[in-house]
Amino acid sequence: MNFDAIIIGGGAAGLFCAITAGRRGKRVLVIEHNAEVGRKILISGGGRCNFTNKSVSHENFLSQNPHFCKSALAGFSPQDFVELVRKHKIPYYEKTLGQLFCRESSRQIVDMLLTECRRSKVRIATRCRVESVRSPHVSEGSGERGDFVISTSNGDLSAPNLIIACGGLSFPKIGATGFGYDVARQFGHKIVETRPSLVAMVLEKRAYPKLAGISLEAVADTGRAEFREKLLFTHRGVSGPVVIQASNYWQRKYPMAFDLAPGVDVADALAANRHSTRKTANFLAEFLPDRFAAEFLETSLADKQLAQLSNADIDAIGQKINNWQARFSATEGYDRAEVTLGGVSTDKVSSQTMESKLHSGLYFIGEVLDVTGWLGGYNFQWAWASGHAAGNSL
Ligand SMILES: Cc1cc2nc3c(=O)[nH]c(=O)nc-3n(C[C@H](O)[C@H](O)[C@H](O)COP(=O)(O)OP(=O)(O)OC[C@H]3O[C@@H](n4cnc5c(N)ncnc54)[C@H](O)[C@@H]3O)c2cc1C
Repeated sequence: MNFDAIIIGGGAAGLFCAITAGRRGKRVLVIEHNAEVGRKILISGGGRCNFTNKSVSHENFLSQNPHFCKSALAGFSPQDFVELVRKHKIPYYEKTLGQLFCRESSRQIVDMLLTECRRSKVRIATRCRVESVRSPHVSEGSGERGDFVISTSNGDLSAPNLIIACGGLSFPKIGATGFGYDVARQFGHKIVETRPSLVAMVLEKRAYPKLAGISLEAVADTGRAEFREKLLFTHRGVSGPVVIQASNYWQRKYPMAFDLAPGVDVADALAANRHSTRKTANFLAEFLPDRFAAEFLETSLADKQLAQLSNADIDAIGQKINNWQARFSATEGYDRAEVTLGGVSTDKVSSQTMESKLHSGLYFIGEVLDVTGWLGGYNFQWAWASGHAAGNSL
């Protein structure tokens, strides 16, 4: 069969690009090496897929070029995706902070995409492994461009347009590979250094294993964005939505500041109760979880009576709780990370169409690009929007 475009990767971006191009009459083939498409969609949002966010702007994304995502996001909004979800009668709800989830199952989003693929006559080859990609032959003199040749476990395929929608490196157990980066390098694109992100963090020196399982409301001040959500202590470090959000902004050399008692000035509260013979840890348990202060503070401070605290003690406790400088040694890695930070540099990619500026007919969409969203439906919105931009320009 002749195809106008071959898309490598049957995830959110690849499928949405295929639907958009298929609706415009383009003959599209999606190649997926898993036995089924959309496996990441299936496990997303705890099985309920946080498919978008009511309010999305470029400020919810990280990239070396923070303006790159603007055009695609403007071309396909969260409301456009919600309209499709409604058309397919998929029940959904807003969980928190504008995050829209399926009420029943992520499977409904995959089924919706597959139905739309069928309607627009998109072909899908699953269990198909791509072995290599060859650049189009340009015939001498005429300058006419031939097709990309894609060698797969099903044989050679060719098309004038090749869309790389292979995603990032997170969750290798469900099919993530670095293939998209390899193709990008092959065609002269730079890769912005990648690392696991939207992920739990490992504390550098002292972890608090006795606090594992305890959660509290916290504010993370990353220097570039502030998040207020739950923080959860783990055996090796910290997790919970506030940490996962902040992990996007982690820089190895610097600590990250957390206020573990937002709205309470701990030093002021201690100073105001200096006459008391209560143990400091017991007093702090009034606005922090039980056992927390006893484990989190030095025993010499936690066990002191309020009346015995010096000014320096009060400052130290206030700092540790309202301005905890957490130093991390690592993330919990790609096995646990929701996304990959970094990726194909947007430098030589058109922000309007996602087409390579180095090789016409070559496109990059979705997570493989150096565009990473916050937690909360932003990464899927980027997948839909970038897929839509490319699908419309094929
Ligand atoms: C556990 C988890 C939960 C998440 N929850 C959410 C959420 O609720 N909301 C949200 O916005 N984001 C969420 N994300 C992030 C979101 O899933 C991704 O950002 C999004 O799926 C990226 O879409 P994509 O199409 O670019 O890549 P992917 O969805 O990863 O799709 C890439 C596809 O390419 C295939 N592939 C890779 N290499 C090859 C190859 N060589 N040949 C053929 N096929 C290949 C893969 O198998 C995969 O199907 C979650 C991620 C994880 C891991």
